[in-house]
Amino acid sequence: MEITVVQGDITRQQVDAVVNAANRAMRGGGGVDGAIHAAGGPAVLEDCIARFPRGLATGDAGWTTAGELPARWVIHVVGPNHRAGQTDRTLLTSCYARALEVADELGAATVAFPLVSAGIYGWPKDDAIAAAVETLAAAESAVAEARMVAYDHATYAAIRQSLPTT
Ligand code: ADP
Repeated sequence: MEITVVQGDITRQQVDAVVNAANRAMRGGGGVDGAIHAAGGPAVLEDCIARFPRGLATGDAGWTTAGELPARWVIHVVGPNHRAGQTDRTLLTSCYARALEVADELGAATVAFPLVSAGIYGWPKDDAIAAAVETLAAAESAVAEARMVAYDHATYAAIRQSLPTT
């Protein structure tokens, strides 16, 4: 699996699946979650309600339609809320590992990831990057490209620095 990084808006990515930094209720929210629901349209929320009536556990992943997004699927993950005292790092690395497992179930070859928990949930950015990159680099998956999508240039540059050199 190749790990790549781009700067941009995750909702614009031409990939098979985009990962959403969702919350346990899975009924929409701010940040990436708000952008994905806004761009994907009501079909995303309808599918969340239908497929996840009780939401999703922290650290877990599950898929829905991507509605009107260029992607085919949204893989929702629930990162730990560092700001609320959830500092167990395995809950964060689990989001990436579980997202790849779900991608493999779907047969998704290209998957775009946001920096889970590093926004509203307040995980320190450098460690959020390290957790993402080390988990993706260690994963056994049929996914061909795991694309990290950074919203701003500083995050893009930091992710680039941390990628394994091949
Ligand atoms: P969380 O609640 O898990 O912290 P957020 O959505 O608040 O998730 O933020 C996760 C990361 O995604 C942050 O680094 C934020 O800057 C970034 N981000 C926010 N909107 C977008 C977007 N449309 N595309 C890509 N990244 C985004």
